[in-house]
Amino acid sequence: MARLRRGSPALIRDLNRSAVLALIGTQGPISRAEIARRLSLSAATVTEVTRDLVADGLIRVVDQAPSNGGRPGLLLGLVAEAAQALGVKIAPDHLAIVRVNLDGEVLAGREESFDALASDAVEQLAGRLRAAIEDAAGTRLLGIGLGVAGIVDARGIVEAPILGWRQVALGPTLREQIGLPVLIDNDVNTLAVAERLYGRGREAEHFLTVTIGRGVGLGIVVGGDLYRGARGGAGEFGHVTVVADGPRCTCGKHGCLEALVADPALVRQGVEAGLLAPDGSLAAGIERLRALADAGDPGARRIFAQAGAVLGRAVGGLINVLSPQLVLVSGEGTSAWPHLVGAFEDEVARGTFAPLRGVAIEVDPWDDAKWARGAAALVLRATFSAPLYERQIEDSVRDRLAGVVTEPESGQRSGHTARGQILVTGTA
Ligand SMILES: [Zn+2]
Repeated sequence: MARLRRGSPALIRDLNRSAVLALIGTQGPISRAEIARRLSLSAATVTEVTRDLVADGLIRVVDQAPSNGGRPGLLLGLVAEAAQALGVKIAPDHLAIVRVNLDGEVLAGREESFDALASDAVEQLAGRLRAAIEDAAGTRLLGIGLGVAGIVDARGIVEAPILGWRQVALGPTLREQIGLPVLIDNDVNTLAVAERLYGRGREAEHFLTVTIGRGVGLGIVVGGDLYRGARGGAGEFGHVTVVADGPRCTCGKHGCLEALVADPALVRQGVEAGLLAPDGSLAAGIERLRALADAGDPGARRIFAQAGAVLGRAVGGLINVLSPQLVLVSGEGTSAWPHLVGAFEDEVARGTFAPLRGVAIEVDPWDDAKWARGAAALVLRATFSAPLYERQIEDSVRDRLAGVVTEPESGQRSGHTARGQILVTGTA
């Protein structure tokens, strides 16, 4: 974890400081002796670095290690109030924005209307972000995380058909206009990161977050961190073909999982069964179908049960491939979960290879703020873990936490260190 390089004493001190902070962030509370052992640093160096970090208000003594007869060791942890991050979930018609502290605790949140299809949508978004940054004036803001329903590459280029965005250079544009580190990912990935950092995934090194609703999404955590695949597209579970020559999907293929179990598919089936009027909105249709199922309508119940079975079979396949400890089911579609769960569980059990059966499956109530919190978690994660996105962007988040950047970077990407060095902290 320690980055050993030749360099000036000041540079080495900055690197040690970053490494110590990262270790406390991921493994804390932790003793000085353990830090020295894990980073191969001398006790004197650790004492000096941690004394500075305590003096700067970034870490504090949070507990004492149990004593084995000798003097108990003091355990160091992060100071949650030391820094903050912004998280935004971008939906087609609104933004959910939250501000969190280092522990991921939500300090402020709001929802604003937004038109993703507008020709100046990115400029509008930049304006909203600037306003949110102003609201956070006086705090050490590490960066902004954004969650979008689409595929996002390591630089922040977004392909999100649901927002009408084709190859939008969202990351580079926002970094240029805002002058803060901006990290962007698929919104289901941001949810998985949030679960890993401070949700039910804290205790699980390997887990899946499956979301249902308007579409079907998947976040994959393996070995304790998010798996994004070669092009950032890992988790396009909704576009796994489950029925040959099945209904046409929005992606152009036929028989995708999403084309059978997502809300538009359920409403279409409700119309075909004569349960719903053919001209209603998607939201009204799904609500009506759920109300019919709640009231015991056998046709409506059959539609949900069939969807539960198809989804369960597909999740059984995921369990066979990835062997997770835990599967979390989330998304607005879980409001109909009582009508899905029976058939879902039967098919998961039937579709799972016997030695891998018995994986815990939990349903997570859905709300927008949680997804936004997940987006903020991209920033917090960057302070503690190996880079997932373009390395320099995540390094700039780390530098901000370590206090290397002392001036707000109004549109530029270099900052003056306390010792007068110029440190490049980001890139467009
Ligand atoms: Zn598809």
